[in-house]
Amino acid sequence: MQSNNSKNTIPSFFTSVSRNFWDAAKLTEHPKGLLEQINTCNSVYHFTFPTRKGKGEYEVIQAWRVEHSHHKLPTKGGFRYADNVHADEVMAMAALMTYKCAVVSIPFGGAKGGVKINAANYSVEQLETITRRFTSELINKNFIGPGIDVPAPDYGTSAREMSWVADTYQAFHPGAVDAPACVTGKPLSQHGIQGRKEATGRGVYFACREACNIEEDMKALGLSPGLEGKTAVVQGLGNVGYHAAKYLYEDGVKLIGLIEIEGGLYNPDGMDLEDVMQYRRSKGSLKDYPGAKFIENPSDALEIECDILVPCALENQITHLNADKIKTKIIAEGANGPTTPDAENILTKKGVLIIPDIYCNAGGVVVSYFEWLKNLSHVRFGRLGRRFTESTNAQLLRAIEVTSGVKFSDEIIKQIARGPDEGDLVDSGLEDTMILAYRETHKMWTKHDKKITQRTAAFINSINKIAQSYLDLGIFP
Ligand code: GLU
Repeated sequence: MQSNNSKNTIPSFFTSVSRNFWDAAKLTEHPKGLLEQINTCNSVYHFTFPTRKGKGEYEVIQAWRVEHSHHKLPTKGGFRYADNVHADEVMAMAALMTYKCAVVSIPFGGAKGGVKINAANYSVEQLETITRRFTSELINKNFIGPGIDVPAPDYGTSAREMSWVADTYQAFHPGAVDAPACVTGKPLSQHGIQGRKEATGRGVYFACREACNIEEDMKALGLSPGLEGKTAVVQGLGNVGYHAAKYLYEDGVKLIGLIEIEGGLYNPDGMDLEDVMQYRRSKGSLKDYPGAKFIENPSDALEIECDILVPCALENQITHLNADKIKTKIIAEGANGPTTPDAENILTKKGVLIIPDIYCNAGGVVVSYFEWLKNLSHVRFGRLGRRFTESTNAQLLRAIEVTSGVKFSDEIIKQIARGPDEGDLVDSGLEDTMILAYRETHKMWTKHDKKITQRTAAFINSINKIAQSYLDLGIFP
């Protein structure tokens, strides 16, 4: 692990998460042993397996699955494919999953997995082989199952990998009727759920909207309330960044900066997201996009002056080395761990409001929870009640017509009477969860006269909920 001694060294990711944890833990009154139990990683499984690379060539693949906390089961968290994956990173992200689930009141412990590969260097067939082998290793060691540990997509993985996981698990468990609940983020045709793909980015949007709706907080930042007209810089145009940018844009936010690995785009008048995405898809890069200035070094683009900076890529993007140069009022952490604790200290002193990852990017796991419930109940949300609600609403409207003498148009009746389908219910459940969790975090923040960060406030709430479940078990006095 890296140390924090040198001025230029960034502490290890798990060290940063622990530091955030203890900053909050010391403001609670729970016994030290209980706090240590919460902070520690319960199970760390490191494994290797060979894969064929070509004629007679083999490569040894390294993989991890970490179950951070079993205070609630199953444990939950994605798995990533990236060539810089290592034990410390997976442990940190597993811990973040524990705190994240508690912040949004999702009844899971935290887990995370990682395979040390750059997915771009492998064919689809090789990725399928690796994913299926990864899954069978997890099955062998009891690190996967609907009531044990439930993976999901993360950086470098998507619905496609999740369908391979589910299929492999089902092959090993013939007749297990709940088997599809062993993984979430699956394609719709493979027991997935409407809205899962968009969920993390959509959650980031709800988080920004909630934060920006509080007049007093916006006033303190010198901003007017609401999202309309605010400027944003989004780092990462993958699943999370793209959807966060899309929903912010649709609600009137000006996207003045968009950043990817090859560099960033800057246009103070705002950019058309779909046009940029289309350009990058066709050219493979943001470079030379005609509607904006290209910034060669992606980290320089983080320094664009804006109202909301939305890092949606990897951890440790904002550190004590660049925090001073960041010129935003709000940071909405779509990624896990994009801001180090030292950077947060610098930014907080400058008055920047940081909407912390353990709240801000929880939308993915929230909708994963809905998918898991759908798989266990074996019925699509809305299937039983949609038509009933629709006809009851229509009758009500007709009764209003009769008593008021006003006739509604067919269009209005269709709109108002409409019963909710799965997508509506998922979106409404996600929105409600994000609103409630923001209010809870804000309440704790206010209780401390806003002298602590929102991250510390979210951690305190999270720790309190986890501690309660241990205390109710009678494990701690
Ligand atoms: N990988 C996502 C996260 O970091 C989603 C996890 C899940 O849905 O289980 O929150």
